[in-house]
Amino acid sequence: MESILIVDDDINLCSLLKEELNEIGYDAYSVNSADETFAFLDSGHLVDLILLDLKMPEKDGFYVLETLKSRKADVRVIVLTAYADVKSAIDSAKLGASDFISKPYDFDELLITIRKVLQKEKEHED
Ligand SMILES: [Mg+2]
Repeated sequence: MESILIVDDDINLCSLLKEELNEIGYDAYSVNSADETFAFLDSGHLVDLILLDLKMPEKDGFYVLETLKSRKADVRVIVLTAYADVKSAIDSAKLGASDFISKPYDFDELLITIRKVLQKEKEHED
């Protein structure tokens, strides 16, 4: 099953979403900052998809997107943020995000988006 890394400074959201994703069979992990994200990836964990919060203290989600892009990281990103506005969505897409979901998220909608993005990844591999 695909592995998903949740990146959000909201600890409650992380634990709830991780539980929801684990329950339906994804291999879900969470971290609470940009630095933890790269520590996690550098420790050798294979991650198919990142669910990324844009608004985090210190280094934000755009920093994570920029760093993933500069590393040419082989991972899909869905941006998940309370600050859903057109400009954020466009900026995220320019930096390589595959999709955009606004918080509070609807789990079924999120799941459809996750499946769609992971399916696209498979199609690219074939
Ligand atoms: Mg946040």
